[in-house]
Amino acid sequence: MNQLISHDIAILKLPLYQPEHVKHVTRLDAWCQQQQTTLNSLSKYNSSQQARAMLKLLGQAGWLRHLISQEATPTSDARSLCLFRQTLAYFDDLLDFAYSIQSLSGSVIQRFGTEKQRQHYLPRLAEGEWAAAFALSELQAGSDVAAVTLSAKRQGDSYVLNGQKAWIAQGDIADCLIVIARTGEGPGALGLSAFIVDAFLPGVSHTTLGAIAPRSWAHLRFDNVRVPMENILGKSGQGFIIALDILDRFRMTVGGAAIGFSRRAADIALRHALQRKIYQGRLLDLQMVKAALAKMEIALSASSLLTAQAAWHLDHGRTFAKYSAVAKYFATEQAGKIVDDAIQILGAAGVVAGSQLERLYRQIRPLRIYEGSSETLLMNIASTLDAHRVQHREDLQ
Ligand SMILES: Cc1cc2nc3c(=O)[nH]c(=O)nc-3n(C[C@H](O)[C@H](O)[C@H](O)COP(=O)(O)OP(=O)(O)OC[C@H]3O[C@@H](n4cnc5c(N)ncnc54)[C@H](O)[C@@H]3O)c2cc1C
Repeated sequence: MNQLISHDIAILKLPLYQPEHVKHVTRLDAWCQQQQTTLNSLSKYNSSQQARAMLKLLGQAGWLRHLISQEATPTSDARSLCLFRQTLAYFDDLLDFAYSIQSLSGSVIQRFGTEKQRQHYLPRLAEGEWAAAFALSELQAGSDVAAVTLSAKRQGDSYVLNGQKAWIAQGDIADCLIVIARTGEGPGALGLSAFIVDAFLPGVSHTTLGAIAPRSWAHLRFDNVRVPMENILGKSGQGFIIALDILDRFRMTVGGAAIGFSRRAADIALRHALQRKIYQGRLLDLQMVKAALAKMEIALSASSLLTAQAAWHLDHGRTFAKYSAVAKYFATEQAGKIVDDAIQILGAAGVVAGSQLERLYRQIRPLRIYEGSSETLLMNIASTLDAHRVQHREDLQ
């Protein structure tokens, strides 16, 4: 097996992980290395076509099998999802993106679907035969999830959906959509429900979008889309809880992806600093360059530990939402800094169009916006601070 390059093995050896985690992520790392020629050959297609092809690749190789797993194991628990995303992001942005959106959307069905819904959708998603998307955001409802307006009105044994969804990853290739819609059981967040909507139903349409880091991305329209009642996920009125549950679980995995991208940038910078001759020595011999590389190493270690902490809490049935927000905030903010500093170390070579660092620079930026923007995460974390603990402490004056 090839050497593991997408992770710091010393962190994987900590008791936060089991030997099985290390074994599986090493296998994925080797698989990614073997797939490089195939992945490169896909670059002639547009990002939506690439996403389709990558889902098939991932599915056929068994990397989406966690969607049909009955219980959390070192190939399907939160730690493995974070580790796998780190590896996929290290090797290929679109491979990570396809894996993450399929996993997130499929997990909603896995967690809240009926047996019939699970049997129908999950094997196809796990094979990479079908693509899924998670449609929550609207043009006027992003951070403010309770402002969702897409309506689902009960008519006989169906719900009729009308409205739009915005910025939906895999929205232009999805075969099934998880849609959060307003059913009106109560005001604001209390009046939302989740549905599985087959994308081929009459009235569903999309407009493909371009992103600074190309990917399958679209706005969706729903015009009198008749969805059978049995396609509701969980109970009516539970849509907000379902959306929050899944976002809390998955935002730590965005931390994993951020580490993958920034680890690659740090590796590129270190290699360049070693090879670049300057002032009759190497760039690496300059103290400020050493300091920049050292800070990258510190940030990568801290991001890895925070992500592991969040996933460990989730896997052990502990309260984890705060740690998930902490991991995503820190790892994604640090990734921006690491990639930027890596570009600085390369000098002009760092800003060449089409270079790896240019791609990384584009790829890490959206991570601070979706699945909880940095600002909303800070608000969440601040709301968990224990004011009572210090309120009456006279010694702190
Ligand atoms: C690449 C990409 C993929 C995406 N994929 C999906 C998807 O698959 N499904 C989906 O449903 N959505 C998706 N989104 C949408 C994403 O979830 C939203 O963009 C996000 O929730 C932010 O909403 P917004 O863009 O409307 O910004 P707004 O909510 O308008 O926020 C604008 C700015 O205000 C800040 N802000 C918000 N609240 C506060 C506050 N309390 N204090 C201070 N500042 C605040 C935000 O952090 C942000 O910087 C995706 C977005 C991107 C970029």
